[in-house]
Amino acid sequence: MVVRFAPSPTGPLHIGGVRTALYNYLLARKHGGRFILRIEDTDQTRYVPGAEEYIIEALTWCGITFDEGPHIGGPHAPYRQSERKAIYAQYAHLLVEKGWAYYAFDTEEELEEMRRRFEAAGMVAPQYNAITRSYMKNSLTLPPEEVQERLQNGKYVIRFLVPRGREVRFYDEIRGWVSVHTKEMDDKVLLKSDGMPTYHLANVVDDHLMGVTHVIRGEEWLPSTPLHVLLYEAFEWEMPKFAHLPLLLRPDGGGKLSKRDGDQLGFPVFPLRWRDPSTGEVSEGYRERGFLPEGVVNYLALLGWHPSENREIFTIEELIEAFSLERVSKAGARFDFEKARWVNQQHLRAVPTARLVELIRPLWEARGLPPVSDEKLSMLIELAKERAALLPELIESVRFYYEAPTFPLSSEREGKLNPALVENLSEWIVALRELQSWTVENIEALVKHRAKSMGLPLGKVLPTLRLALTGEESGASLYHIIHVLGQGEVVRRLERFVEVYGVRPRV
Ligand code: GLU
Repeated sequence: MVVRFAPSPTGPLHIGGVRTALYNYLLARKHGGRFILRIEDTDQTRYVPGAEEYIIEALTWCGITFDEGPHIGGPHAPYRQSERKAIYAQYAHLLVEKGWAYYAFDTEEELEEMRRRFEAAGMVAPQYNAITRSYMKNSLTLPPEEVQERLQNGKYVIRFLVPRGREVRFYDEIRGWVSVHTKEMDDKVLLKSDGMPTYHLANVVDDHLMGVTHVIRGEEWLPSTPLHVLLYEAFEWEMPKFAHLPLLLRPDGGGKLSKRDGDQLGFPVFPLRWRDPSTGEVSEGYRERGFLPEGVVNYLALLGWHPSENREIFTIEELIEAFSLERVSKAGARFDFEKARWVNQQHLRAVPTARLVELIRPLWEARGLPPVSDEKLSMLIELAKERAALLPELIESVRFYYEAPTFPLSSEREGKLNPALVENLSEWIVALRELQSWTVENIEALVKHRAKSMGLPLGKVLPTLRLALTGEESGASLYHIIHVLGQGEVVRRLERFVEVYGVRPRV
């Protein structure tokens, strides 16, 4: 099996493109095949600097690797279509020789004029096709001498000659049989007047030359496939298998997921941060939002594919094992950001704390938070890990550590303080200050012991201590919080609390 991912470098890679690359990757790895990256950059007008680098960086971040590509080379190099120009011209001329294509010389104005004329005659959206071509300036209508002359001038395109009265049928691995009549098709340009191929020609020629066996791509390319099928027939080449992946839909199901939807609903549609080189506009990526690559990959795998077992969490290796095209659905897949967060959370829980320390430290420093040792940072991460879905939440949920509570508390929270404990807190401070070995177990024993000797249930003691130390009503295990804050800081915070609440006149 040989598969390829063939993006056009016209901007950042959309998350739907990442899914296409992922499905190709999973199949290649599952079947011990090869995976090719090919950059389809023949439309120079849409070329965006930096897009190719972005695509490679994004896929590398996701753990999607290639066997051949512009960044690693390979037996079918070059892998950028703009560097393969001569190859396509040769094949376009071959099709003219075989009678499957012809030269056309019409100017923009003449094409426009044709459209107007046929529209006026009642034709809907007139195209260059079996009916109209005979009224146009091309090598099928002009005398051979004039054709020669015009060819010498060098201003021509090569168009595909769509045969009349044919039903083009092909089998799509996801959709089943697809059939289109040639009267629905137009004579697409294969080679442009600047000598560059169009997508159709370059795509088919390269898939053939690179030995691609399975063309797996987004549904938006389904309408191009009948032409590709005819091109394979014209060249007399063996056709690859086709599979068109379902669209990624907006969360409400109403249409294709676009960048605008993401902006409006507050979630990224790109894997990595992207800065538009012409407008300077910056779009956030999943990486910067705090997703793990394994979370993104797992979530994307589920967008259109249904595992056979009742299970949703997979590592990339497990996906390679479980994935198959048979279980990819035809129906569009709705994007669900909450689900993406949930999937990421399951992966976050499984990540060893040491790796999280590495991931969190730069974020911690970027926020200008006080220096923290690796040991402290691991303790904090351990405390926050269960609840956090995204990396920054690990930092946000330990706010108590780097932000001492402000007093007075809101009156609602003040109402939750236990007066007996507040009054007695100075003695607690002494005991805590004198605690010999500052371990979670000793802290827990001390708190329980003192609560018992005061005859207070823990349910009253813990909320008051939590409010005094963190200003919050809930959060991670209080004994762990006390431990990680450290003896000095705990004593300081309680003293400040006592200053505000311990000396209040009795009523
Ligand atoms: N260059 C096309 C794209 O941008 C490739 C489509 C295909 O895979 O055939 O997606």
